[in-house]
Amino acid sequence: MNYTFNIQKTTAPKPKPDPNNLKFGKYFTDHMFIMDYETGKGWFDGRIVPYGPVSLDPAAAVLHYGQIMFEGMKAYRTTDNRVQLFRPYMNAARARRSNERICIPEIDEELFVSAVKAVVNADRDWIPEKEGTSLYIRPFVIADDPFLGVQAANHYKFMIILSPVGPYYDIPGGGLPPTNIYIEDEFVRAAVGGVGFAKVGGNYAAALRSQARAKEMGCAQVLWLDAVEHSYIEEIGTSNAFVMIDDEVITAPLMGTILPGVTRATVIELLKKWDIKVSERRLRIEDVVKASEEGKLQEMFGTGTAAVISPVGKLTHKDYEVTVGDGNVGSLTQKLYDTIYGIQTGKLSDDMGWTVSI
Ligand SMILES: *Cc1c(COP(=O)(O)O)cnc(C)c1O
Repeated sequence: MNYTFNIQKTTAPKPKPDPNNLKFGKYFTDHMFIMDYETGKGWFDGRIVPYGPVSLDPAAAVLHYGQIMFEGMKAYRTTDNRVQLFRPYMNAARARRSNERICIPEIDEELFVSAVKAVVNADRDWIPEKEGTSLYIRPFVIADDPFLGVQAANHYKFMIILSPVGPYYDIPGGGLPPTNIYIEDEFVRAAVGGVGFAKVGGNYAAALRSQARAKEMGCAQVLWLDAVEHSYIEEIGTSNAFVMIDDEVITAPLMGTILPGVTRATVIELLKKWDIKVSERRLRIEDVVKASEEGKLQEMFGTGTAAVISPVGKLTHKDYEVTVGDGNVGSLTQKLYDTIYGIQTGKLSDDMGWTVSI
C-alpha cells in the first residue's frame, strides 16, 4: 500500500539553530506529522502541519494512565549530500510490539515508515551537515480520549516530531569518552511479564530516581540489574549493555525485560560477520567483578540510537568499584562505533543493506 499525506506548509519558518551548539532534543523543526485514530474508523487523516502545541482535554487518558508509546531513530545527511534512515522497519516493527502491549491499535509498518519519510522530507533542509550531527526522529502515539475510566482508549494521535541534534559527546577530535556507570542494586527497571521490552512512557518516569542517584555518585548512567536476584546485568540507562570477557562478547537475552535495540541487533550481526564470539546469555555482576580481578574484563559498552556506542570505563557500586580493561576505550568498542556510524553517514559502503534513502 502506498500512503500519501496532506501537507500544510508553515508560513513562518523558524531560524535554524547554530550547528555548533546543538543539544539533544532542544530544537524542533518547522513541521510535524499527525494522524488520528477512532475505534470503528481506524487510522485516518495523516497530515504534515506546522510544528506547534496540540490541544488535549484535561481528562485525556494519556495524562492520567500513561497510555503512550514512542520510538527513537535518526536521519543522516551523507557525505555526498543524500539523506538516509538506518533500519527504519525495525523501529516500525518494535512500535507495533510496544503498541500491542499497551492496547494501542496497530500501525501498519509501511504506514509508519511512509510517515517518517514524508515528514523528514518536508524538513530536509533542517538536517545539519556538520560531522556528528543528525536529525533525531521521535514518533509517538498518545491516547486522547477524555475519559477517566481505566481502559484502552478509543481515540489516539500518532505524531512525529523532529529535532536536529549534535554529536552525543562533545569532544574535540570526536573521540569516545569512557563513562562511569552506577550499579543500581535496589530499584529495578523491568520484570519478566512487565513492559520492559516496550518503549512506553512509564518505564522512563520510573527510571528517573535511579538516574538522579547515578548523578549524585558522579556517574553518567545506571546499570540495571534483574528484578528477582538483583544480580544479572540488564541494561545501561536507556541503552543495551555488552560486556567482553576474554574473547566472548555477552549481552542479555530478550526475555521480556530488555528493550530490543536496533543498535543491539546491529552489533550482534556485525560481530557474527567478523567471526567474534557473541552470546545472548545472562551474566551476573559478580562474574564481571571476578573477571575484572582476574584481568579478563576486556571491554564494556552501551548501544543505542542517540550515542551509537558508549564505552564504559568504570563501574561504581556503593561498596566497590570495577575498572573495565585499562579504563580507556576498547579497540572492539571503537571499531563497532566507526563501522556503524560510518554506514549511517555514508562514509562506509552499506553492504548489509541497512540504510534507506529518502
Ligand atoms: C531505545 C532504547 C534502547 C536502544 O534502542 P535503539 O533502537 O538501539 O536506539 C535501549 N534500551 C532502552 C531502555 C531504550 O529505551
